[in-house]
Amino acid sequence: TPKIRYKTKIAVIGAGQAGLSAAYHLKRQGLEIGRDFIILDEAPRAGGAWQFRWSSLTLSTVNRIHDLPGMSFEATIDTGDKEVQANIAVPRYYERYEKEFGLQVYRPLKVDYVSLHEDRFYIDSSQTLFSALGIINATGTWEHPYIPEYPGAGLFRGEQLHTKDFKTADYFKGKHVIVVGAGISAIQLLDQISKVTTTTWVTRRPPVFREGPFDDMAGHNAVAMVEERVRQGLPPLSVVSVTGLPLSPEVMAMKARGVLERFPMFSEITEEGVKWEDGREEKADVILWNTGFKGALEHLKQVVPREPGGGILMAGRLATMVAKEPRIHLPGYGPSASTIGANRAGAAAVKELMETLGMK
Ligand code: FAD
Repeated sequence: TPKIRYKTKIAVIGAGQAGLSAAYHLKRQGLEIGRDFIILDEAPRAGGAWQFRWSSLTLSTVNRIHDLPGMSFEATIDTGDKEVQANIAVPRYYERYEKEFGLQVYRPLKVDYVSLHEDRFYIDSSQTLFSALGIINATGTWEHPYIPEYPGAGLFRGEQLHTKDFKTADYFKGKHVIVVGAGISAIQLLDQISKVTTTTWVTRRPPVFREGPFDDMAGHNAVAMVEERVRQGLPPLSVVSVTGLPLSPEVMAMKARGVLERFPMFSEITEEGVKWEDGREEKADVILWNTGFKGALEHLKQVVPREPGGGILMAGRLATMVAKEPRIHLPGYGPSASTIGANRAGAAAVKELMETLGMK
């Protein structure tokens, strides 16, 4: 059967923080949903990647979820309970948000690839072929976990998992787990897993712990640094990787328990575990890679040119515009990969894309 064809002006791909912010601003500009713009999302329900986060991640252990424009997150959390699971509270918030602002999302609909013919982008999915004059791509990073390559990875008889696969610490009971990574996720998962089993913590560089609370200035500098990179077409670093780790009470307790003894990165993976350059070996049942995510941008391969180092040259007020294809914006990529960044990026993307398309 031939695919259904659907023509619009702007396609928003992804309905997480960045996509919903963009959709809100498109509507505010007087654009009509369904006719002038559409929102597509692969996930089964409202909530962006938050619906897939592990259950022990609560509102007291996330950094902070910023409000989407026009609706308070706090107001949707019952009784201000900070122990509520993020994978329940945030999807509930997004669901109410979509209803409140009439932002109907086509879901589940995975965009497989995008191509350009004459002045239209063709957005292909298994059921429907959409076409649009411009794209706001807000597909986040969750669908693109990153695991660095180490020799011997194929030999390992145990399990190699990524942050994305983590469900509960209990799963690891009785197994020896090598936890890789120096980011917030690595620390949080190491904390939980080390309470139920033995662990070894390895990181590429010595982790940097930050005294005192995370202040706006540190955040600002971190974002500016990532922004600077994407404006040169370099692959972005994660924003957290440049802010340092908070020396929280949990981290202090981990130190006291002796689980924060850090080893340098191993140099190869063996059948039974890992091996360091000096010849030392360690057996393991699981290697848990907390090595981050990259932009889920596979579907844009044909229309978003990459620089020699693999990055994308970005431009525009908040660096959301693909410099070599200004009809495509990427809110949530690089410097805007946070809930507050995604909010602002959604607004900037709408303004600039409408200008580019002569809609303003
Ligand atoms: P997402 O929420 O990932 O939304 C992207 C959407 O695009 C998804 O719904 C997905 O289904 C859809 N999609 C992807 N590919 C396709 C496709 N091909 N076709 C159709 N749809 C597609 N940030 C904070 O500000 N505060 C925090 O406390 C915080 N905690 C975090 C904790 C963890 C464990 C992680 C991994 C990240 C955290 N972040 C946090 C960063 C967070 O991911 C961002 O802040 C923000 O939520 C990302 O929003 P987004 O809209 O860019 O992406």
